[in-house]
Parts: sequence; structure tokens; C-alpha cells
Amino acid sequence: MNDVVELLERLVAADSTNPVLEPGGAGEAEVASILAHAMESAGLEVDVWDAAPGRPNVVGRLPGTGGGRSLMFCGHTDVVAGTPEQFRPEIRDGRMYGRGTNDMKGGIAAAVVAAERLARGVRPAGDVLLAWVIDEEWASVGAEALVERHHADAAVLPEQTDLEVVFAHGGFVWYDVVSTGKESAGGEPQHGRDGIALAGELLTGIVELDRELATRETAEWGRPNVHASTITGGQNYPSYPAQCVIGVERCLMPGETVAQAHAEMERLLDRARAADDRFDGTSRVVIAREPVMLARDHPVVTAVADAARAEIGTDPVVRSDYGWMDSGVLVEAGIPCVVFGPTGAGLHTAEEWIDLRSLEHCVDVFERTVRAFCGEPA
Ligand SMILES: [Zn+2]
Repeated sequence: MNDVVELLERLVAADSTNPVLEPGGAGEAEVASILAHAMESAGLEVDVWDAAPGRPNVVGRLPGTGGGRSLMFCGHTDVVAGTPEQFRPEIRDGRMYGRGTNDMKGGIAAAVVAAERLARGVRPAGDVLLAWVIDEEWASVGAEALVERHHADAAVLPEQTDLEVVFAHGGFVWYDVVSTGKESAGGEPQHGRDGIALAGELLTGIVELDRELATRETAEWGRPNVHASTITGGQNYPSYPAQCVIGVERCLMPGETVAQAHAEMERLLDRARAADDRFDGTSRVVIAREPVMLARDHPVVTAVADAARAEIGTDPVVRSDYGWMDSGVLVEAGIPCVVFGPTGAGLHTAEEWIDLRSLEHCVDVFERTVRAFCGEPA
């Protein structure tokens, strides 16, 4: 049997730094291979394929006895960069410290051990899929490749939620706005166009739009926002700039849509054009991710909430979350996805940890969730 703490230690020790986010990063291959072997030894059928060159996704399937609903557990194998010490997991005071303990190798290890228990006990009626994908920290290439190849009736994403049930979360759109100027010597204004300064009205528009978005804050969904993220442009002091590129992020609340964000961006560009017709700006979508909002009484939400109540003994909090996760890709592909995972902290920081008792709870909650959602054999 795989032991959840021992499996997590091995996963954390295998550096899987996202190689796009961190050029030269180790990538997900070693973690994928550990997971493939752990799932094989647990009695699952394993499918491994490259979602990007040298960066494999790995999916394990526990076939059901027939007739039940299928459930997928989905998690990302990549991590953000860490120091060498962070890839040497350390257990102290009931916690494991290390890069990826919390985000999100703990949740992955819990689901693998839960599936192994199911494989060795009475098999559920529906299939159980364990899908471990690359590249969530950058562009979700792994989740997108996953939904092209595997499907399920619903999914659970075991990211850290402190044992709370997350049925909705925000989305986002990233834009590059290009303001085209005309390069010329600074002393020849008749030939130049100031691509940087003419974009000023767009920046003012972003400030005003964000003020308006702030008024839409709700206790349940949080605060939508828009902000400038990056700015580049110009060649040197004695020249008119040929170009200015402004990176913009629009964070969407559950209930908002990517189309809404695109319409706002068009209005921002129109406003800048109206302010000065020399403004020559266009926007390009870098990444767009719809928010997620499942019904509170969707069967996968109630299956997880009931399992958590049975295991922990109190009613779990059922809530929304602000950040975007790979669950968005699953939901867009028609796989309703709820988020539930262990307790921890320090995501993307120097001191990342997971609470090991909450990890044991997750194993039990996942096993119970499958039994309820996928059904007992006829
Ligand atoms: Zn994560």
C-alpha cells in the first residue's frame, strides 16, 4: 500500500518546477513517473502521454463494476520555483514543509491513496479517474490536453481549501494592449508619434473602470478588478517611441464572463481614441479563463460536502474562492468540478507547508465521495 505521507515526501523531493515559468526548470517528468508507478502498484490502468515535449500528463483509471457515474480527480504536477532546501521535505509539528506540499502534491497523494483503498476493497459502480496534469502554474497546457482525451461525469480538484468545499471561483483575462507610435528623432515632432504618452488615456480608463468594479464587491464573490500589470516601450531618450505595450489583467468574479471583459476593453480603447485621434491602439488576448460557478446542490458538491461532514464531524463551509484553478478548464469542457483539499499555507512562498492530519482526512473524504458519487456495485 502507498502511504500518503511517504508518497508525498517522494513527490515533493522530485523537483517539478514549471520550465516555462522558470526557464531551465526541471519539468514534470519525474513526478509523472512516480505517480504512474504508484498508481500501477495501486491496481489502476495508467495512461501517460506528453502534453508538451518531455512534459507528460498521467491518468490512472480504476474501472467501475458498471452502471455508476464516473468521477475524476484532477491536479497539477508542476510547482513554482523553490530553493534546493525546499525540495528536501521536512516534517515538523504535524506539518510537512517543502515546495509543492500544499500546492498541490498533498492533494494528489491523498487521491492516489484513496483510489488504492477503493481498488483493494469493494469497487464502486462508476469509473474513478486520477488525472495529473502539467503546467497549471503557467498556461494549463496539461488540463487542456486532458479534456481532449478523457472525460468524466464530474471532477474534484484537490487544491488546498482547508477542508472547505469550493463550488465557485473567479476567472481572469490577460491582455496586451499595443499602442503604436512613430519613431523619429526627438527634435522632429512633425515626424514622430508618442506611442507611450498617447496610451495615457487608456491607463486613466483602467483606473476609472477599476473604481466602478470596486462598487460591485459582494461578501459572497469578492471584488472584481482590473489593473495594469506590465509596461514596456520606447528606444532611448532622444526619440519618439515606436511602440508601447501594456499588460492588463481583468479578474472576473463568478457570474461575470470573458465576453464582458472584452467589451470593457473595447470601451477603454474607444475612449483613448476619442481623447486623441493619434492614439493607435489594439488589444490582444493572452489568456482568457471563465469563472466557475456550480449549483450549490450539484451532486458532486453534495457528495463532497456529505463526505466531509461524515469524516470530520461538522458541517463543512461551502464557499467560493477568488483565484482561478484548472477546474475552469474542466468546467468549460463540460466536467463540473468542485475544489476540496487539505489545510496548509505558504503557496508560492519560501515557507510552504501542509497539515498532515488534514491530509489523512482528505484520503477518507475522497474515498467516501467516490462511494457516494460513483455508486455501490449492483
Ligand atoms: Zn495549484
